Amino acid sequence: MRITRVRATPVAVPYRTDEVWAFGRRRGLVSLLVEVDTDEGLTGLGEAAAYPSADAVLGALRSMEPLVVGSDPLRIEQLVQRIDVVGTYHHTGSSSPAAAAVETACWDLLGKSCGMPVAGLLGGRFRDRVEFFHYVAAAEPGEVRAEGARAAGAGARVCYLKVGADDLGTDLARLAALREGAGPGMGIRVDANEAWSAGAAVRAVTAMEEYGLELVEQPVSGRNLPEMAYVRSRIRTPLLANEASWTRSSQFAVLREGAADVVSADQQMDGGLLNLKRSAGICAAAGVPVVKHSLGELGVAVAAAVHVIASTPNFRCANQGYGALLTDDIVKGDFAGPLENYSDGCLDVPTGPGLGVELDAEKVGKYAELYRESGAGFSFHDPLALSRAPALPKR
Ligand SMILES: [Mg+2]
Repeated sequence: MRITRVRATPVAVPYRTDEVWAFGRRRGLVSLLVEVDTDEGLTGLGEAAAYPSADAVLGALRSMEPLVVGSDPLRIEQLVQRIDVVGTYHHTGSSSPAAAAVETACWDLLGKSCGMPVAGLLGGRFRDRVEFFHYVAAAEPGEVRAEGARAAGAGARVCYLKVGADDLGTDLARLAALREGAGPGMGIRVDANEAWSAGAAVRAVTAMEEYGLELVEQPVSGRNLPEMAYVRSRIRTPLLANEASWTRSSQFAVLREGAADVVSADQQMDGGLLNLKRSAGICAAAGVPVVKHSLGELGVAVAAAVHVIASTPNFRCANQGYGALLTDDIVKGDFAGPLENYSDGCLDVPTGPGLGVELDAEKVGKYAELYRESGAGFSFHDPLALSRAPALPKR
């Protein structure tokens, strides 16, 4: 089998409510749907988060095309090496979502060519359902309380709330409202996106612990592992690495420094599904659970991650998902997309060949049109962020 063409379609899908974090705001997400065509008539699906922008991903995809077209998509390791080493994409980061989307499409092709779901090719299903947290947007306390109640009503076990964008009093008021709405049994995960200095982090997390926290995500800079280890030693809540742990080598460094209790990993940021599985292996070797991070993804990327998570034992915590925020999706059926498609915060592992999802042509057309009309309004780039958070971290 040979790859004949790589097609990419940027789509913009709105959220129910804005996503606000320490240095940005989005009213929806942009993803690039990647279709890899072959000479045998099979097409593989992948999806790249528009990180840092859709144009950057499109540029990376165009530049990878000569390395990919003509290759055998079933020799996945070889193809990834060609992109990484021959294409000099081995320093991952902003180029990685494009490579990850191509790699994911190859897994879809491999599964389709042999009639197996991707989870079956990655070790087989360890679990039949994959759990995600309920994303509670950082809004007015009344809205946060209502969203907590919606999460509990939907059977979620963990809620996720961004902190650090506002003053501590505002964060605590939201947290109190969330606990009230979601009830005493709900796990609450807070994510500061590196907003605090070490001293501010210890003070803030200590104050927040009154409301009960499941995990605190990236309280301080991810580029200062001794500070992370210091904060970890001063708080009772387990510390989840995120900005510190984008790649396998950075995950290894986090674990070596004792900088986190749990490590997050993302197939978008480190070249694809096999590397996500390898990240979990690095964490397993260190005796640490791993969490799937998300930059905001639609059904293709969610399905891809679900196959890895389902076949890998140490994804033991609720994973990052956007079901509570998204209004719609671009895959057929009831997979991923909005909250109604989740059951008790979980998605069933698709059982069809490959990723087991198909694009809904009508929805792809609708959201590609929305991207063309107003894609910039859905990007990571928030023009107001500089006035709101001119300098981080906070003391
Ligand atoms: Mg995070």
